[in-house]
Amino acid sequence: MKEAREDGVVINCGWGPKEVVVENGKATAIVFKKCTRVYDENNKFSPLYDENETITIPADKVIFAIGQSIIWGNLLDGSNVELGRGNGPVADGYTFQTSQEDIFTGGDVLTGPKFAIDAIAQGHEAAESIHRYVQNGHMTIGRDPRRFIQFDTSDIKVENYDNSSRQEAADGTEKSFRDVHGTLTEEQVKKETSRCLGCGTVVVDDHRCIGCGLCTTRCKFDAITLHRDHPEASTMVVAEKKFGKILPNMAKRAEKIVFVKNSKEDREFVAQRKKAYKEAQKKDR
Ligand SMILES: Cc1cc2nc3c(=O)[nH]c(=O)nc-3n(C[C@H](O)[C@H](O)[C@H](O)COP(=O)(O)OP(=O)(O)OC[C@H]3O[C@@H](n4cnc5c(N)ncnc54)[C@H](O)[C@@H]3O)c2cc1C
Ligand code: SF4
Repeated sequence: MKEAREDGVVINCGWGPKEVVVENGKATAIVFKKCTRVYDENNKFSPLYDENETITIPADKVIFAIGQSIIWGNLLDGSNVELGRGNGPVADGYTFQTSQEDIFTGGDVLTGPKFAIDAIAQGHEAAESIHRYVQNGHMTIGRDPRRFIQFDTSDIKVENYDNSSRQEAADGTEKSFRDVHGTLTEEQVKKETSRCLGCGTVVVDDHRCIGCGLCTTRCKFDAITLHRDHPEASTMVVAEKKFGKILPNMAKRAEKIVFVKNSKEDREFVAQRKKAYKEAQKKDR
C-alpha cells in the first residue's frame, strides 16, 4: 500500500462496481456505488450499497479481479448438494462433505471471501476426506479436528514484553525500475536484532524464574542471555570453609542490631512509621 501510494496510485475505499460504461464497443469508464455496510450482524461478508451515491472513473481498460457471486450453471444438476447462504454449498465443517455424499467442497465458494491459506487448508482436509471416502474408510477417526480456542488478548499486560516497533529502512524516492529499497542503518540493525520476536517458545515471568538458564538454549537467535545482578551470591564455598564466610557476616549483623538500631535516625524512623500506622488506623475507623 505504502509503495503504491508513493507511485501515485489513488486508493478509494468503500466503493463497489456498479457498471462499466461502454462506447463504440470499448470501455470508457467504470461507475462505482457507495458501500454502506460490509458485514452483517453475524459478521458475515454481506455488503450493502447506496445505488444513488456514485462516482465515475474514466478507464480504457477494466480488469475484473474479484467475483462475489456463485453461478453454478449446470454443475450440480442431478445432485443433492444443499445450497445455503449466498447460494454457497452447505458442508460439514470438519470433513467438507456436502449433503451429496460423494461431493466435497472448500475455499471461497464455501466460506465466502477469505484467504488463500484457508482455501488451501480446506483443500487438504477435503482431499483427505475424498481419500477416506473412496477407500471406504472412516471419515473422522484419527483426524486432528484443529479446534482451537482463540487466545483472548483483551486483558493481557504487554508492558513486560519487548514491544518496540519494527525498524523500517528509508527507501529511495527515485522513479525508475532500479530497486530503491534502502537498508537499515547500523543503529537500526542494533535495535532490530535486540528485539524479541515474541516467538512464544519462552515467556519469562520474573517472579517464577529460578535462573536455570534453559531459556537461553531455546532462542535460535541468541536473544536471551542471563545476567547475574549479584555475582558474589553465586560463589560456591565448600562446607569445611563455611564458617570463614559466615562469621564476618554474623558479626556485621550483630553490630547493626546493637548499635545502628538504637541510633537517632533509627528511632526517628520507627516513630514516623508508628505515627503513620496510627493515622491509617484512625482513617479506617
Ligand atoms: C483481488 C483479490 C486479492 C486477494 N489477495 C489475497 C492475498 O493477498 N492473500 C490471500 O491469502 N488471499 C487473497 N485473496 C483471496 C484468495 O485469492 C482466495 O481466498 C483464494 O484464491 C480462494 O481459493 P479457492 O480455491 O477457494 O477459489 P479460487 O482461487 O477462486 O478458485 C476457483 C476456481 O474455480 C474455477 N471455476 C469457477 N467456476 C467453474 C466451473 N463452473 N467449472 C470449472 N471451474 C470453475 C475458477 O475459474 C477458479 O479457477 C484475494 C482475492 C482477490 C479477489
Ligand atoms: S532461566 Fe530457567 S526458569 Fe528462568 S525463564 Fe529461563 S528457563 Fe525459565
